[in-house]
Amino acid sequence: MSEVRNIGLSVKPPASSCDDVDCPFHGKLPVRGILLTGVVYKKKMNKSVVIEREHTVYVRKFKRYLRRRSRLSAHLPPCIDVEVGDKVRVGECRPLSKTISFVVLEKVG
Ligand SMILES: [Zn+2]
Repeated sequence: MSEVRNIGLSVKPPASSCDDVDCPFHGKLPVRGILLTGVVYKKKMNKSVVIEREHTVYVRKFKRYLRRRSRLSAHLPPCIDVEVGDKVRVGECRPLSKTISFVVLEKVG
């Protein structure tokens, strides 16, 4: 399967191709739900990455913000080339495994 599918989102399709069934562009994985951006934290699994996201929580007692982090695992199709530290956009998809229900869509910036 080499033709790039239109996934209905304003992300630019990857330059290279792949034959991964779970690729939103070259396979048949539907992307629906929420879109998130995060930084690649770990790239040690096969075709998956761990994304870290940072957000702030307001503490009323001290009138200051607290930095919190959360991590999520996402599927990485072979056609998308990212390294640890890259900012990426991930989209929600069906659960691909126990912990993975997001897929990397593009590298940001
Ligand atoms: Zn692909």
